[in-house]
Amino acid sequence: MKCQICNLLYEEHSLTRDDALNIHKFGGYRNRCFLKTNFKGFEFKGKLTDDRVIIKYNNITYPLLRDAKGRPIIAKYSKKDEQISLRTGKVSNPYIKIVQEGQNKFDKLGNPIFLLDLDNPIPVHHPNGKSIIKSGIYIKKSLFKNSNFEKSDFSNTIFKSFLKKYNSRIIACNFSKTKWNGATLENVIFKDCNMRGVDMTNLKFFKNVAFINCNMRGSRIPDEMVLQNPINENLMDNSRKRSKSSIRKR
Ligand SMILES: [Zn+2]
Repeated sequence: MKCQICNLLYEEHSLTRDDALNIHKFGGYRNRCFLKTNFKGFEFKGKLTDDRVIIKYNNITYPLLRDAKGRPIIAKYSKKDEQISLRTGKVSNPYIKIVQEGQNKFDKLGNPIFLLDLDNPIPVHHPNGKSIIKSGIYIKKSLFKNSNFEKSDFSNTIFKSFLKKYNSRIIACNFSKTKWNGATLENVIFKDCNMRGVDMTNLKFFKNVAFINCNMRGSRIPDEMVLQNPINENLMDNSRKRSKSSIRKR
Protein backbone atom coordinates (compact mmCIF):
# COMPACT_ATOMS: atom_id res chain seq x y z
CA MET A 1 0.00 0.00 0.00
CA LYS A 2 1.32 3.42 -0.97
CA CYS A 3 0.71 6.59 0.96
CA GLN A 4 -1.61 8.77 -1.06
CA ILE A 5 0.12 11.89 0.15
CA CYS A 6 3.81 11.30 -0.42
CA ASN A 7 3.65 8.19 -2.60
CA LEU A 8 5.94 6.21 -0.29
CA LEU A 9 5.11 2.72 0.86
CA TYR A 10 3.80 2.68 4.42
CA GLU A 11 6.90 0.87 5.66
CA GLU A 12 9.10 3.53 4.08
CA HIS A 13 7.85 6.34 6.26
CA SER A 14 11.15 6.83 8.01
CA LEU A 15 10.68 10.04 9.95
CA THR A 16 10.89 9.25 13.63
CA ARG A 17 9.30 11.21 16.43
CA ASP A 18 12.67 12.87 17.11
CA ASP A 19 13.06 13.86 13.46
CA ALA A 20 9.60 15.37 13.46
CA LEU A 21 10.27 17.35 16.64
CA ASN A 22 13.63 18.58 15.33
CA ILE A 23 12.10 19.76 12.07
CA HIS A 24 9.52 21.69 14.06
CA LYS A 25 12.22 23.64 15.90
CA PHE A 26 13.16 25.32 12.64
CA GLY A 27 9.85 26.82 11.64
CA GLY A 28 7.24 24.10 11.49
CA TYR A 29 6.08 21.75 8.78
CA ARG A 30 5.67 22.47 5.08
CA ASN A 31 4.76 19.84 2.50
CA ARG A 32 5.72 16.99 4.80
CA CYS A 33 4.12 13.65 5.49
CA PHE A 34 3.86 12.52 9.12
CA LEU A 35 1.59 9.56 8.75
CA LYS A 36 0.99 7.80 12.11
CA THR A 37 3.64 9.87 13.90
CA ASN A 38 3.72 9.94 17.66
CA PHE A 39 3.70 13.57 18.86
CA LYS A 40 2.43 12.67 22.34
CA GLY A 41 3.04 15.36 24.94
CA PHE A 42 4.95 17.74 22.68
CA GLU A 43 4.54 21.48 23.13
CA PHE A 44 3.92 23.34 19.87
CA LYS A 45 4.39 27.04 20.47
CA GLY A 46 3.34 29.42 17.75
CA LYS A 47 4.48 32.47 19.61
CA LEU A 48 8.04 33.63 19.38
CA THR A 49 10.16 31.75 21.85
CA ASP A 50 13.81 32.02 22.60
CA ASP A 51 15.25 29.41 24.91
CA ARG A 52 18.87 29.96 24.03
CA VAL A 53 21.20 29.60 26.97
CA ILE A 54 24.16 31.71 27.86
CA ILE A 55 27.21 29.56 28.52
CA LYS A 56 30.63 30.72 29.55
CA TYR A 57 33.56 29.71 27.37
CA ASN A 58 37.07 30.95 27.29
CA ASN A 59 37.96 29.26 24.05
CA ILE A 60 36.37 27.63 21.07
CA THR A 61 38.13 25.19 18.81
CA TYR A 62 37.08 24.28 15.32
CA PRO A 63 37.41 21.01 13.41
CA LEU A 64 40.24 20.87 10.92
CA LEU A 65 39.14 22.04 7.50
CA ARG A 66 40.03 19.64 4.68
CA ASP A 67 40.23 20.10 0.94
CA ALA A 68 38.44 17.94 -1.64
CA LYS A 69 41.15 15.27 -1.40
CA GLY A 70 40.91 15.10 2.35
CA ARG A 71 44.18 16.92 3.01
CA PRO A 72 44.07 19.23 5.98
CA ILE A 73 44.02 22.92 5.19
CA ILE A 74 45.81 24.95 7.79
CA ALA A 75 43.03 27.22 8.87
CA LYS A 76 43.64 30.91 8.80
CA TYR A 77 41.20 32.64 11.03
CA SER A 78 41.12 36.36 10.70
CA LYS A 79 40.80 38.54 13.75
CA LYS A 80 37.24 39.32 12.63
CA ASP A 81 36.35 35.61 12.38
CA GLU A 82 37.57 35.10 15.88
CA GLN A 83 35.53 38.01 17.22
CA ILE A 84 32.38 36.77 15.48
CA SER A 85 32.89 33.27 16.74
CA LEU A 86 33.43 34.39 20.29
CA ARG A 87 30.34 36.55 20.17
CA THR A 88 27.95 34.17 18.46
CA GLY A 89 29.48 30.71 18.69
CA LYS A 90 29.56 30.64 14.88
CA VAL A 91 32.23 31.34 12.31
CA SER A 92 31.93 33.12 9.02
CA ASN A 93 33.11 31.46 5.81
CA PRO A 94 34.71 29.07 5.04
CA TYR A 95 33.30 27.36 8.13
CA ILE A 96 29.63 26.57 8.02
CA LYS A 97 27.34 27.66 10.79
CA ILE A 98 26.11 25.38 13.53
CA VAL A 99 22.63 25.07 12.13
CA GLN A 100 23.86 24.39 8.60
CA GLU A 101 26.18 21.81 10.05
CA GLY A 102 23.17 19.89 11.22
CA GLN A 103 21.53 19.79 7.84
CA ASN A 104 23.37 16.75 6.60
CA LYS A 105 20.55 14.43 7.48
CA PHE A 106 17.86 14.02 4.86
CA ASP A 107 14.63 12.16 4.69
CA LYS A 108 13.81 9.80 1.83
CA LEU A 109 12.44 12.62 -0.27
CA GLY A 110 15.63 14.63 0.09
CA ASN A 111 14.25 17.22 2.47
CA PRO A 112 16.68 18.28 5.19
CA ILE A 113 16.12 17.27 8.80
CA PHE A 114 17.52 20.00 10.96
CA LEU A 115 19.62 18.94 13.88
CA LEU A 116 21.48 21.35 16.04
CA ASP A 117 24.98 20.01 16.38
CA LEU A 118 26.11 21.16 19.78
CA ASP A 119 29.62 19.74 19.51
CA ASN A 120 30.70 21.61 16.45
CA PRO A 121 32.55 23.93 16.97
CA ILE A 122 33.82 22.36 20.17
CA PRO A 123 33.40 24.64 23.16
CA VAL A 124 35.94 24.58 25.92
CA HIS A 125 34.37 25.37 29.24
CA HIS A 126 35.94 27.75 31.64
CA PRO A 127 34.41 29.05 34.87
CA ASN A 128 35.71 32.55 34.22
CA GLY A 129 35.31 32.49 30.49
CA LYS A 130 33.44 34.88 28.29
CA SER A 131 29.66 34.82 28.16
CA ILE A 132 28.49 33.48 24.82
CA ILE A 133 25.01 32.68 23.64
CA LYS A 134 25.73 29.27 22.35
CA SER A 135 22.70 27.26 21.47
CA GLY A 136 19.17 26.32 22.26
CA ILE A 137 15.73 26.34 20.77
CA TYR A 138 14.69 29.37 18.82
CA ILE A 139 11.36 29.31 17.07
CA LYS A 140 10.67 32.37 14.98
CA LYS A 141 7.30 31.07 13.91
CA SER A 142 5.63 27.77 13.39
CA LEU A 143 3.79 27.08 10.19
CA PHE A 144 1.87 23.89 9.50
CA LYS A 145 1.12 23.90 5.79
CA ASN A 146 0.15 21.27 3.23
CA SER A 147 1.29 18.52 5.55
CA ASN A 148 -0.18 15.17 6.33
CA PHE A 149 -0.73 14.05 9.94
CA GLU A 150 -3.22 11.31 9.19
CA LYS A 151 -3.62 8.89 12.14
CA SER A 152 -0.91 10.75 14.10
CA ASP A 153 -1.13 10.93 17.87
CA PHE A 154 -1.44 14.42 19.36
CA SER A 155 -2.67 13.27 22.75
CA ASN A 156 -1.46 15.42 25.66
CA THR A 157 0.20 17.87 23.29
CA ILE A 158 0.03 21.62 23.80
CA PHE A 159 -0.80 23.96 20.91
CA LYS A 160 -0.52 27.64 21.72
CA SER A 161 -0.96 30.82 19.66
CA PHE A 162 -1.33 29.53 16.13
CA LEU A 163 -2.76 32.79 14.82
CA LYS A 164 -1.90 35.14 12.01
CA LYS A 165 -0.69 37.76 14.44
CA TYR A 166 2.11 35.47 15.64
CA ASN A 167 3.00 34.51 12.07
CA SER A 168 2.08 30.96 13.02
CA ARG A 169 -0.71 29.15 11.26
CA ILE A 170 -2.18 25.76 10.57
CA ILE A 171 -3.32 25.65 6.94
CA ALA A 172 -4.39 22.92 4.54
CA CYS A 173 -3.24 20.00 6.65
CA ASN A 174 -4.72 16.56 6.95
CA PHE A 175 -5.57 15.70 10.56
CA SER A 176 -8.02 12.95 9.73
CA LYS A 177 -8.27 10.21 12.37
CA THR A 178 -5.77 11.96 14.67
CA LYS A 179 -5.95 11.54 18.46
CA TRP A 180 -6.30 14.59 20.70
CA ASN A 181 -7.22 13.26 24.14
CA GLY A 182 -5.66 15.24 26.98
CA ALA A 183 -4.36 17.97 24.67
CA THR A 184 -4.40 21.70 25.39
CA LEU A 185 -5.37 24.11 22.61
CA GLU A 186 -5.22 27.84 23.13
CA ASN A 187 -5.66 30.46 20.40
CA VAL A 188 -5.58 27.95 17.54
CA ILE A 189 -7.23 28.25 14.14
CA PHE A 190 -7.38 25.32 11.75
CA LYS A 191 -7.92 26.61 8.23
CA ASP A 192 -8.76 24.53 5.14
CA CYS A 193 -7.88 21.38 7.09
CA ASN A 194 -9.22 17.87 6.96
CA MET A 195 -10.57 17.07 10.45
CA ARG A 196 -12.41 13.89 9.48
CA GLY A 197 -13.12 11.58 12.40
CA VAL A 198 -11.41 13.87 14.93
CA ASP A 199 -12.72 13.85 18.50
CA MET A 200 -12.04 17.12 20.32
CA THR A 201 -14.44 16.49 23.20
CA ASN A 202 -11.84 14.95 25.51
CA LEU A 203 -9.23 17.70 25.60
CA LYS A 204 -7.61 18.77 28.84
CA PHE A 205 -8.24 22.46 28.15
CA PHE A 206 -9.15 24.70 25.24
CA LYS A 207 -9.76 28.35 24.61
CA ASN A 208 -10.36 30.25 21.33
CA VAL A 209 -10.30 27.31 18.94
CA ALA A 210 -11.80 27.70 15.48
CA PHE A 211 -12.17 25.64 12.33
CA ILE A 212 -12.46 27.62 9.09
CA ASN A 213 -13.38 25.87 5.82
CA CYS A 214 -12.53 22.49 7.34
CA ASN A 215 -13.91 19.11 6.42
CA MET A 216 -15.71 18.04 9.61
CA ARG A 217 -17.09 14.69 8.48
CA GLY A 218 -17.48 12.34 11.44
CA SER A 219 -15.81 14.76 13.86
CA ARG A 220 -16.91 15.51 17.43
CA ILE A 221 -16.38 19.15 18.31
CA PRO A 222 -17.39 20.91 21.55
CA ASP A 223 -20.02 23.63 21.15
CA GLU A 224 -17.65 26.31 22.40
CA MET A 225 -15.31 25.86 19.45
CA VAL A 226 -16.06 28.01 16.42
CA LEU A 227 -17.07 26.39 13.17
CA GLN A 228 -16.89 28.73 10.22
CA ASN A 229 -18.02 27.56 6.82
CA PRO A 230 -17.64 23.85 7.69
CA ILE A 231 -17.64 21.21 4.98
CA ASN A 232 -19.86 18.17 5.68
CA GLU A 233 -21.39 19.79 8.78
CA ASN A 234 -24.43 17.53 8.36
CA LEU A 235 -22.17 14.47 8.64
CA MET A 236 -20.60 15.48 11.96
CA ASP A 237 -20.86 13.08 14.88
CA ASN A 238 -23.08 14.99 17.29
CA SER A 239 -23.50 12.14 19.76
CA ARG A 240 -21.02 13.61 22.24
CA LYS A 241 -20.85 17.09 20.86
CA ARG A 242 -20.87 18.87 24.20
CA SER A 243 -17.70 18.89 26.21
CA LYS A 244 -17.78 17.70 29.78
CA SER A 245 -17.27 21.21 31.10
CA SER A 246 -20.27 22.59 29.24
CA ILE A 247 -22.47 19.75 30.46
CA ARG A 248 -21.46 20.54 34.03
CA LYS A 249 -22.66 24.15 33.71
CA ARG A 250 -26.25 23.08 33.00
ZN1 LIG B 1 3.14 9.62 3.38
